[in-house]
Amino acid sequence: MNERNDKQYERYRRLRKRKTNRPIILILTFSIIMIAIAILGSLLLKGSEEHVILNPTDTQPGLTLDDDISSGIEESGKQQSSTDDTEWNLTLVNKWNPIPDNYEINLVEVPGGEKVDERIYEPLMEMLEAAKKENWDQLPKVVSGYRTQEKQQKFYDEKIAEYKQQGYSENEAVEQAKQWVAVPGYSEHQIGIAVDINGATYDLYFWLQENSYKYGFIFRYPAGKTDVTGTAEEVWHYRYVGVEVATEMYEQGLCLEEYLDRIEK
Ligand SMILES: [Zn+2]
Repeated sequence: MNERNDKQYERYRRLRKRKTNRPIILILTFSIIMIAIAILGSLLLKGSEEHVILNPTDTQPGLTLDDDISSGIEESGKQQSSTDDTEWNLTLVNKWNPIPDNYEINLVEVPGGEKVDERIYEPLMEMLEAAKKENWDQLPKVVSGYRTQEKQQKFYDEKIAEYKQQGYSENEAVEQAKQWVAVPGYSEHQIGIAVDINGATYDLYFWLQENSYKYGFIFRYPAGKTDVTGTAEEVWHYRYVGVEVATEMYEQGLCLEEYLDRIEK
């Protein structure tokens, strides 16, 4: 009897111990699972944020940027502007503002052989690929990228000669040429962040006008702003300013001169 009682008591104790331990084990297991989920979640989130920052324009064309993505872009924009080459993307070059002295750029070749500032290569290619995917079978071509002073001079002289051939006087020919070709030293092409783009059809330009800002490019010389830009409408000329600025300009209908004027105030 005694032995049996002892055994029963032992069994009872074991059972009780297991019962009292069960909630603790459950809580511990639950906590471990929750911690694991939290760690995994934060890792995944971190991964996607980095992706956005590294590749801010990696969105499908035609889609509007959602809040998350645009805040990621703003962050990357801020990171850029805190470095030494702060405002390179906002450098103003027009008929009243020559290219800055000792302006330094690293050039990289784009398909077709033209060269651009390496900092605009990726967004430019993404924009051209998106244009191709959206509307055309072929990649729109960069027909003019970076130009040296000599090259700009050549274009300028050729344009003047063209007008003179049409019967304009020297002075008239110069005035006409200036409408279309920047005076050497006053062309955005000389800082490597502007491109002239050619597509198979004119539709390309309508697409670019509505979508280029997503890649950081602006329709630099719209018809309605010729007094402000000092340049006649050029549907093929796109200039890089960065996604954040381009989006603001697009949404508010500002040209670069108007935008810079506004942020200086
Ligand atoms: Zn141009």
